[in-house]
Amino acid sequence: MHESIYTPVPLPWQQEQWQLLMQNQRAQRLSHALLFTGPKGVGKAQFAKALAMALYCQQANAQYQACLQCSQCQLLLNDTHPDYFYIHPEETSRIIKIEQVRQLVSELQMTSQQGGWKIVIIDRAEQLNTAAANALLKTLEEPRQNSLLILLNEQISQVLATLRSRCQIYKFPAVKTDQASTWLKQNCEASNIEELLFFAPGAPLLAKHFTEANFAEHRQHWLAQFQALLTQKIDPLMIAKQCSDDEPARVLWYWQLLVTAMIQTLATTVTRQDLPENIQAIIQRGIALFTADELLERWQHLLKAHQQLMMQSSSNKQLLLESVFIQWIK
Ligand SMILES: [Zn+2]
Repeated sequence: MHESIYTPVPLPWQQEQWQLLMQNQRAQRLSHALLFTGPKGVGKAQFAKALAMALYCQQANAQYQACLQCSQCQLLLNDTHPDYFYIHPEETSRIIKIEQVRQLVSELQMTSQQGGWKIVIIDRAEQLNTAAANALLKTLEEPRQNSLLILLNEQISQVLATLRSRCQIYKFPAVKTDQASTWLKQNCEASNIEELLFFAPGAPLLAKHFTEANFAEHRQHWLAQFQALLTQKIDPLMIAKQCSDDEPARVLWYWQLLVTAMIQTLATTVTRQDLPENIQAIIQRGIALFTADELLERWQHLLKAHQQLMMQSSSNKQLLLESVFIQWIK
């Protein structure tokens, strides 16, 4: 996802976490290390940035909202604040490198240039390997005053236990559909909000991200492929090959959501009329072909394959994808 913008307020569904954090700050109970955990697309980075702004701002109001005007706010808005760092895995490596962390640690040990907070946000903290985490732990054990480390992560169990245990943890759960939908209506021009939330359930920021043209095209292409698979118009080995060359983790995620909807439709006998016709057609075709047990079995296989792809633990991607798609031939 694109790096998020600064807003002086948390998102509407983050009020509880904001109040809790501010309470801790007022009572001087704010830890030097925070871990924000929750699914992708719920706005953890936005929240962390709003917090950074609130702490840096020289004239934040009683609700800790930054003014956006003072010199500290301006430095942040221009991305030139010398005491603020935002790091994330580099695109190609997918891991946070030990060099990145070492540099950070030495920065944190120096006095702040503006005389206030030193704040570091580490996105996708599960990508810190043992060496990187150990380097960080030292700073956590002897924190400087006014230093704050904020780790962001999707699945808390994936963060190294040694790191986790030293953090104050704040949870950011999936956003309720009506709340997500209201926010999307106010913040993007899309007319297909139900569809966007179908592919980004509980994750309004991810749904907004999906409104970009290339995502819509990618999604429509794969919806047509899934329909072709279920109507036996395409060879599952062919679809596996195409998938392997075209963001397989995302394609399997789409497929997983569609199969989930098939299972839900069978279980509740309620048809989602709000969804576009091509999605409804796939769901109907799936439940006409397979029983609930058969769908569940395929769903579990799909989930496992998706996890393997995400962890990059599969040595043969092609074979893994073939095993997924071949199951949909009757
Ligand atoms: Zn300000």
